[in-house]
Parts: sequence; structure tokens; C-alpha cells
Amino acid sequence: MNSERETIALFGGTFDPVHFGHLRMALELKETLGFSEMRLLPSHQPRHRQTPGVSSRHRREMLALAIRDCPELALDDRELRRGGDTFTVDTLEELRAELGESVSLCFCMGLDSLLTLPTWHRWQRLLELAHLVVVARPGWHLPAEGDVADLLNQHRGEPQCLRDSPAGRIVVREQTLLPISATRIRQLIGRGQSPRFLLPDAVLQYIEDKQLYRTAAEGC
Ligand code: ATP
Repeated sequence: MNSERETIALFGGTFDPVHFGHLRMALELKETLGFSEMRLLPSHQPRHRQTPGVSSRHRREMLALAIRDCPELALDDRELRRGGDTFTVDTLEELRAELGESVSLCFCMGLDSLLTLPTWHRWQRLLELAHLVVVARPGWHLPAEGDVADLLNQHRGEPQCLRDSPAGRIVVREQTLLPISATRIRQLIGRGQSPRFLLPDAVLQYIEDKQLYRTAAEGC
């Protein structure tokens, strides 16, 4: 056991826009699993979902505003700077090269994202580079068969695993999730209704100032 191993957690998403569901989940994971760092990792253009509603620049600004008073959370905008298609495996390879072989990398995702894992680019390589921390969202269950079930059977572990080795385990967390989605926020704004109290006021102010998400083309 290596209780001194540094644990860097990454929480990827489109954050279009970032909301309290994302922020609460990231903070709770950091505190309950004792990560050294929790980085929010906005993706440029993930292949397995629709193009985000607003530009990378706006999404980065909104994230920066959302966490400006929260030293527990950090922003890692490397995928936005890289541009082009976002492949998690490329990002993890880059981080591994940068941070060294011994640091524990923990890629956090909702269970809904885990179920799509076999469609991700070079997905079998992911667990050689990082651990996966999976948070169950209401209404989702762990699969009983298929690629993801096999992966869970081989790699599932307890939270302590995240410190014992740099990569290779899947830890499943059950966590109460706030019933908020970016889709709903975009819909509310598109209909002229307020998304207040679903996301930080500073982010809402930015959305209003820049007049984001007002039209279908902007992401409704
Ligand atoms: P959209 O509605 O546009 O699909 P979203 O709100 O689901 O967006 P994403 O950026 O797609 O947000 O999600 C990034 C990550 O955040 C995913 O791993 C997803 O499971 C997780 N997530 C999304 N909503 C919540 C929430 N309310 N609570 C906790 N985690 C969430």
C-alpha cells in the first residue's frame, strides 16, 4: 500500500453550461475519496455526442467563473486548447507523460458514460492509463452482461485501490445526484424562462451578458 501516492482526479464533460450537478459531484468525490486534486476537464468536440451548443471559449469562461471561489476544484482546459476531436485516451496519455508513472490518475464519469465506454476511441487502453471512478445516476443499473459487465468483473475495486496503484481499477460510487442537466438549462433559456438556482449566479450572468442559448442553433 502507498498511502502517500498523489491522486489526480479528472471530471470530463461538455459543461454546456456547467451547473450545480457537476460542481456538487466533483466536490463530493474529491472530499469522500480524498483526491489530491480534482480537475474539471471540458471536452472540445466529443465524437459520441452532439456538438456542444456554445463555443469552447464560452464554456471555458463559464467554468472559470463557476469555480473562481472554490479552491477545491481546478480547470484543466487542455482539450479545448488542443482542438479537434476529443479522445480521452489521448488526454490520459498526455497527462501520464506529464505527471509520471507513479501518480494515480482517476477519471470520473457518470454510469451513463460508462455504458458507452466500448464506443470510445482505444477504450481498452484507458485502464492502463487511469482508474475509472463511476457515479451511479438515478435510474441506471450496472449491466449484467456485455463488454462493460466483463470489464467490471475484471477491474472493480474498493476506493483504497485508487491509492494502491496508478491505474487499472474501476470504483463505483453511489451518490445522490442533483436532478439538473445542461439540456434542461438550455431548454429553459430557449423558452425565455429562468434557470436560476440550477447553476452559479456568475455563470447565469455570463449567459445573459453574452446572450447564450437563446436560439435553437445555440443548443436548445
Ligand atoms: P447534457 O444535458 O447537455 O447532456 P449534462 O448536464 O449531462 O449535459 P455533461 O457535460 O454531458 O452534462 O456531463 C459531464 C459529466 O457530468 C458526465 O459524467 C455526467 O454523467 C455528469 N453529470 C451530468 N449531470 C449531472 C448531475 N446532475 N449530477 C452529477 N453528475 C452529472
